[in-house]
Amino acid sequence: MIQLENISKKYTTKKGTIEAVKDVSLHVKKGEIHGVIGYSGAGKSTLIRCVNLLEAPTAGKVRLNDKEFTELSKAQLLAERKNIGMIFQGFNLLKTATVGDNIAIPLKLIGVKPSDIAARVDKYLEIVGLTDKKNAFPGQLSGGQKQRVAIARALAQEPDVLLSDEATSALDPETTESILDLLLKINAEFGITILLITHEMQVIQRICDHVYVMEAGEIVEDGPVIDLFSQP
Ligand code: ADP
Ligand code: ADP
Repeated sequence: MIQLENISKKYTTKKGTIEAVKDVSLHVKKGEIHGVIGYSGAGKSTLIRCVNLLEAPTAGKVRLNDKEFTELSKAQLLAERKNIGMIFQGFNLLKTATVGDNIAIPLKLIGVKPSDIAARVDKYLEIVGLTDKKNAFPGQLSGGQKQRVAIARALAQEPDVLLSDEATSALDPETTESILDLLLKINAEFGITILLITHEMQVIQRICDHVYVMEAGEIVEDGPVIDLFSQP
């Protein structure tokens, strides 16, 4: 599970200080899918970067599976990163590596046994439906296929949580639907907890249990998706 308690993040630049995230709390229980929606500049990326340890919040607590990040040592934080998979709008694949190697390389870096790496590459490529693309290069794939590779790469670490930063924003509506269906499938199959950020209501409606609306760094509204969209 992911728990944020009163998270704030200030950036100090030459022009002054901006508070990108203001006193945000949220709680994604194991196996749930929560989404944060808001316009560009609302603070969504900053918020998710506090969860994947790319940013340290200025105030507040981040907890993953009851471990509080501020109480962990550097080594413990590094170990905790293995529990967090992440997918991005721009896919972030290595262009010069094959699909299989894109999945294998991060596994090597986190110390998975070489004998297990090949098995995981095959297992997760099959789950995302790209077994036949193992030796292809990212440049030979469509956007939807690239995002499937990125999802396989994230899952291959066998994390407890998956974070998604606008993962479908660069994709056409049909491809978006197929990627969202894949996220639902892996959520059901592995019980993986998902926190996503998006500016698209369609994404929230299709897969999220709970939605947070973010504006100028703050959560201005939140509730179960079913309540927010049901007609009176
Ligand atoms: P969103 O993801 O919703 O588009 P961001 O989290 O990227 O929002 O940005 C929120 C605000 O914080 C914006 O005003 C942005 O310019 C500012 N911001 C984000 N990252 C930094 C940074 N590293 N340094 C200074 N300001 C930043
Ligand atoms: P996204 O919203 O997709 O993260 P951005 O363009 O907001 O894309 O941010 C790209 C990078 O630039 C991030 O690392 C972010 O922290 C940083 N950034 C965003 N806004 C600012 C800013 N006003 N000053 C400095 N860095 C920024």
